[in-house]
Amino acid sequence: MKTAILGGGLSGITLARLLYEEGKEVIVLEAEPDYGGLCRSKTEKGFTFDIGGSHIIFSRDAEVLSFMRRMIAGNEQVNDRNTKIFYKQQFVKYPFENGLSDLPPEDRFICIHEFIKTLIAVEKGEMAPPANFREWIYYTFGSGIAECYMVPYNEKIWKYPTDKMSLHWVEGRIPRPPVEDVIRSAIGINTEGYTHQSVFSYPIDGGIEALLRAIAQPVEKFIQTGFRVTSITRSGKKWLISNGDSLVEADQCICTIPLQHLLPCLVDVPLKVKNATDALKYNSLVCVNIGIKGSVPAISWLYVPDPAVGRTNRISFPSGYSRHVAPEGFSAILAEITHQPDDEVSTMSDDELICQVSDSLQKMQIVHKDQIVYSSVERQPFAYVVYDLDYQKNVAIVKDYFNTIGMSLIGRFAQFEYLNMDGCIRSVMDFVASR
Ligand SMILES: Cc1cc2nc3c(=O)[nH]c(=O)nc-3n(C[C@H](O)[C@H](O)[C@H](O)COP(=O)(O)OP(=O)(O)OC[C@H]3O[C@@H](n4cnc5c(N)ncnc54)[C@H](O)[C@@H]3O)c2cc1C
Repeated sequence: MKTAILGGGLSGITLARLLYEEGKEVIVLEAEPDYGGLCRSKTEKGFTFDIGGSHIIFSRDAEVLSFMRRMIAGNEQVNDRNTKIFYKQQFVKYPFENGLSDLPPEDRFICIHEFIKTLIAVEKGEMAPPANFREWIYYTFGSGIAECYMVPYNEKIWKYPTDKMSLHWVEGRIPRPPVEDVIRSAIGINTEGYTHQSVFSYPIDGGIEALLRAIAQPVEKFIQTGFRVTSITRSGKKWLISNGDSLVEADQCICTIPLQHLLPCLVDVPLKVKNATDALKYNSLVCVNIGIKGSVPAISWLYVPDPAVGRTNRISFPSGYSRHVAPEGFSAILAEITHQPDDEVSTMSDDELICQVSDSLQKMQIVHKDQIVYSSVERQPFAYVVYDLDYQKNVAIVKDYFNTIGMSLIGRFAQFEYLNMDGCIRSVMDFVASR
């Protein structure tokens, strides 16, 4: 029984390993010259950057977390999160509602006042239950926190209007603090939110790709890179998978590549399924990597909601996760800019992007341009699934179809869900356990 796994990102590699450990014959078909997908890292001039955006290892799922930590045992640095939001020239503690005492007094008053007013209105049944993500933000946090941070930040990262986004995904994803914590934080008593992430791990050497390489180690010989799947057909009970040059025959075919890449490989896909796939929304990512001489603030990563500060939505400081990702006396900064697949950011040159990010860093007084000794740009066409209002309807049509043709979908852009690494590994573990 031979299993072909389409895509050699974290999902495909983990699946290959777990099936192999059960004695199954596997082959991973990966389009790029290197496997790893969003979990690749690169090292240049002594600086190591994650090329699919800054990654950290954390999870609420104890089994998955222990799997990831076991994989990087001996190469793990454990860190306390110290995350901030850049708001009106200040670093405000994250999550925002746990950092209210860092706000200017007038903003602090508006945030706490509107939070309590909303809470009372909800208790009295005076507010209609939310019907979209924007309404959920107002309903949960009140207009102060909504307008100072939640709406601007979310519109910046998703590149999509929050009132056109569904809210089915927010529970457990967006910190929802107890009222006591919001009041404590407003009067200056320290509180922590989103606690399952308050301690996180990162590989000492090799960036996040070290996790991938450790998972891949026993199955590396079964990964065929440079194999871009272009056609998938059936011959009797077999699957025939081709890249235009060579053909792989398998008894089982499991897909971890984006649905948008998978559909054109298939014949006779019903129009309804094609239309539903075309309607699914996602965004893309530019990473601007900066190496500097000297130090950076002792911040894990920084959210930047204000468009006036620049295009970047998040800036990470990976040399705080591991001292080995920058040479001695130097520091690493990774700025993420999400964008729509064909918007103006996608046509901007690397130099323009680097220039804009260094302007932003200077505006925030994080570094002076003279300190920059290294810069590069990475681009990822598929970064985040965007949950628009039609998402659930469209994804159900697509998944029903793949059920009927007997192809399993696993991973962030095959399941088309906002899955972090732990979610991908959980999907793989559940799939293997269900066989
Ligand atoms: C900015 C950002 C930050 C993140 N930070 C974190 C974090 O801190 N912690 C965390 O847990 N998770 C994080 N994630 C999520 C994490 O990156 C993903 O959950 C995970 O990498 C998804 O793995 P995957 O294998 O499902 O998909 P992918 O990594 O997208 O892999 C799919 C693979 O399929 C290949 N492929 C595509 N088309 C074809 C084809 N036609 N033929 C063959 N191969 C093909 C691609 O080249 C790719 O290698 C982050 C994601 C982003 C975008």
